[in-house]
Amino acid sequence: MKPSRPEYSCPDDAADRRAVAPIICYPVDALPQPDLTAYRAARDGWVQLFETIIPPRDAACFEVPAGHFFRITSTDGPQVGDLNLWSADLSAHFYSGKTRALHGTHLSTGDRMWSNLPDLRPLATITDDTLDWYGFDEWGGSVHDVIGTRCDPYTHALLSGGGQYHHCCHSNLTRALARARNMPLHQAEAFIHDVLNVFMCTGFTRDTGQYFMKASPVRPGDYLEFFAETDLLAALSACPGGDCAGQHSSDAAQCHPLLVQVFKPMTPPAGWTGPASNPYDRSHGAGI
Ligand SMILES: [Zn+2]
Repeated sequence: MKPSRPEYSCPDDAADRRAVAPIICYPVDALPQPDLTAYRAARDGWVQLFETIIPPRDAACFEVPAGHFFRITSTDGPQVGDLNLWSADLSAHFYSGKTRALHGTHLSTGDRMWSNLPDLRPLATITDDTLDWYGFDEWGGSVHDVIGTRCDPYTHALLSGGGQYHHCCHSNLTRALARARNMPLHQAEAFIHDVLNVFMCTGFTRDTGQYFMKASPVRPGDYLEFFAETDLLAALSACPGGDCAGQHSSDAAQCHPLLVQVFKPMTPPAGWTGPASNPYDRSHGAGI
């Protein structure tokens, strides 16, 4: 955090230096865009293959074949979900940092969930978001962030003088993956990564730059919908923070289940071929 009283005085040209206009680090004009019209047309006549309810303060894994859709829906009351995505063979995982750099702090329709290096390919594309009306509020808050991480018992222990809480999203996701892939907990834990915070309303305070949360605007029936660009394994945790209006990492908040549905389209989207491999040659300049 920046000091409230800096140790060093401003240079004479401080105002000029601060007045330099920012530029976008990663302009996405050249990024191949999903054909949303084709993706959405593929939903006509789709068939639901699978559904599962994520219980409050717990998580579950589900598989989504390439070319299928999945939806995360609020059912009973406001609830935040923490989503992890992997390629089905666990060789690649969602890379929230680069997704943030490309698409901004909060995702919506047309944005993609990118995988870690060296592939950096889309794992999923968001095809519908019933909360896209929220935009950014007066505090700079918005929904579906890729700026947080996931609530975890280690941070909780540090901040609470050693408190033990076992239903943080990190632990819920760990147990879910261990169950789904028959792994010991410590092996599954190594696969858990920073999440897409589905339905969570967050931002950074303007004065201190601290991560904040506020009550999720999600209503029963709201959903976030994805298209699987490759065979996926996903894990979703119904955060112990509930709507994240007050506390997380405890049993204090009222929590609700989340519904996950997987849909098979009659045919894949017209023109869809799946993600191309990354064109970088991976030589890293060695031997030049
Ligand atoms: Zn959580």
